[in-house]
This record gives sequence, structure tokens and C-alpha cells, in this order.
Amino acid sequence: MQSVGFIGLGIMGMPMVKNLLNAGFEVNIWNRTVEKSDQLSNQGANSCQSPGDVARNSEVIIICVTATSDVEAVLLGSESITDPIINGVEKSNIVIDMSTISPARTREFAIQLNSIGASMLDAPISGGEQGAIDGTLSIMVGGDTEILSKVNNIFEVLGSRITHCGPNGAGQTVKLCNQIAVCINNFAMAEALLFCEASGVDPETMLEAITAGAAGSWQLSNLGMKIVERDFSPGFKVGLQQKDLRLALEAADQLNVSLTGTSIVHQFFSSVERSLDSDVGTQALITSLEAMNNLEVGGKK
Ligand code: NAP
Repeated sequence: MQSVGFIGLGIMGMPMVKNLLNAGFEVNIWNRTVEKSDQLSNQGANSCQSPGDVARNSEVIIICVTATSDVEAVLLGSESITDPIINGVEKSNIVIDMSTISPARTREFAIQLNSIGASMLDAPISGGEQGAIDGTLSIMVGGDTEILSKVNNIFEVLGSRITHCGPNGAGQTVKLCNQIAVCINNFAMAEALLFCEASGVDPETMLEAITAGAAGSWQLSNLGMKIVERDFSPGFKVGLQQKDLRLALEAADQLNVSLTGTSIVHQFFSSVERSLDSDVGTQALITSLEAMNNLEVGGKK
């Protein structure tokens, strides 16, 4: 088994590393906030001093940080990261970026790594925190199939569906397609719940019925009851969803494609960020529609 490096121990990264350790991989970790690394050191991970140090000790290096600029910081360096991954990379190394970032910038990162003989895959994920815990993520891969075949054993620990989407950047493009579908699904769920509440029908009963029919979706199954129970804790934070919608809208702008539904949901999320916080879960989208209608799903207003 290869030695695996892992950078970014957030909501997603932390359980992914636990699964790799449980599967018997040697895992070298680095996180900006050191305390999070300490939790995993107790479970057998090797804590490294810097992203460069992770690269020097690992055959495969996985990144799972927030945004494009954060991947750039750990990969190529920044004011605060003086020993980035690229300092420790050798020809045989494979860098896998599992964050959701810009497809265009991904292609540039891949060219830069290829120029020193190393390889890169973009492999963003879907399935939420629970999917990361259960090792059932959907992994959308961009890059060479030959490189993918070398790390499939790692992906099989982390996910239950691994899809090769095309060359570098294609994984990120498919992830943005995922985010477009997810956000409009979320909006559809919110409108259905709002209408149900206004009609005086029990929202829990409605969810039970429609989850099993043609309207069934991940959003309905996983987030519907959270709304009824007024649980707006993340899973997936509104701030991250907004980052992804910005990436999709920017890419669509370059392609001269109009994403009308996505733009509208992006605006609704802006009002959630203003009225609540960017760190609430995406199910909080409902609060924006509730405010417009002076209604509260599962409650009284
Ligand atoms: P998160 O909980 O906010 O964690 C982000 C991680 O990135 C933390 O370890 C953070 O370090 C690190 N980080 C951020 N900026 C950094 C920088 N400039 N330098 C070094 N480290 C940095 O996020 P998450 O939910 O795990 O998401 C990670 C990625 O997966 C994102 O791209 C997200 O869009 C994507 N994703 C998330 C979900 C989900 O349901 N949460 C689902 C699918 C995909 P600190 O600990 O020091 O803050």
C-alpha cells in the first residue's frame, strides 16, 4: 500500500483520514490549525511540519482545503506557507486535489506539476459529511486514466462511486454540475415545504410521501427533516455553497451560458449569509423564503 499524505482536516478531511487509517494506509498529515492534527496523531497518523514535509514522506498527496486560493497556498506556497507541497514533490508523486475549486486553475496546477514530472488528478467529492464518514462519497475524477488506476485503491476506501470524467479539470466541471443540481433541488424542497406549511398539512407527512416518489432527492432525504426540526447546523456550509455557485457562474460566464436558476438561488443564499451566517448549513435556504412569506415551516410566525 502507498504512503498517503493528507492536507486539510476539515469536516470532510478528518473522517476521510480516519477511513484511510482504518484501511491500513500509512497517513502523513498536515493542517493549518495544529490541534486538529493532534486528534489524528492519537489514532496513528504521522503529523508533519509543513505541506512540503507531507510530500517528502508520501507517494500520493491528497489536498482537501476550502477554495482555489487555499489549494494554491498549500501547493505552491504563500506568505504563511513557506514549505509548500511543490518543494517536496518528486517525479513519481501523484497529487490529488479533492477540494472543489476552479476547473481552469486546476488545469494550470496540473501543467505545473507535469512540468516537473509529477502527476495530478482533480477528484472533488459529493455526499456530505455523512458520505465522508461512511466512505460512500461520489468521487469525480479528472486526469489520466493510467494515473487513476494507480490510486483507485485509495478512492475505493473513500467513496462508493468513482467516475472518470475526462482530462484534468473535468472532475471539477462535473462537481460544479453537481452543485448546480444540488442548489436548485434545495430551492425546490424549500418551496414545497413552504407551500405545505401554508396549506396546513403536516410537513413531516409530506416529506415521507414525496421522498419515495418522483421528487425524491438527496436533499429531501437528508435535509428535509432538519428544516422541520429547525436544525441549521452544517453538513455543508452556506459559505462553501456560495463559493461553488460563484465558480459555476464564473465558468458559465466564460462559456456564454445563462444559468438562471443557479443565479437566483445564489441571491437567496446571499440573504441567508446576511441574516444568519455563512457557517450555517445549506438547509437554511428556507429561512430566506420564510422571511418573504412571513411563515415558518414546522413552527408558527
Ligand atoms: P472545512 O470544514 O471548512 O475545512 C477546510 C479545511 O481547509 C480546514 O482543514 C482548513 O484548515 C483548511 N484550509 C483552508 N484554507 C487554508 C489555507 N489557506 N491554508 C491551509 N489550510 C487551509 O471544509 P470542508 O467541509 O471539509 O470542505 C473541504 C472541501 O471539500 C471544500 O472545497 C468543499 O467545498 C468541499 N466539499 C465539502 C462538502 C461538505 O459537505 N462539507 C461536500 C463536498 C465537498 P483549518 O483547520 O486551519 O481552518
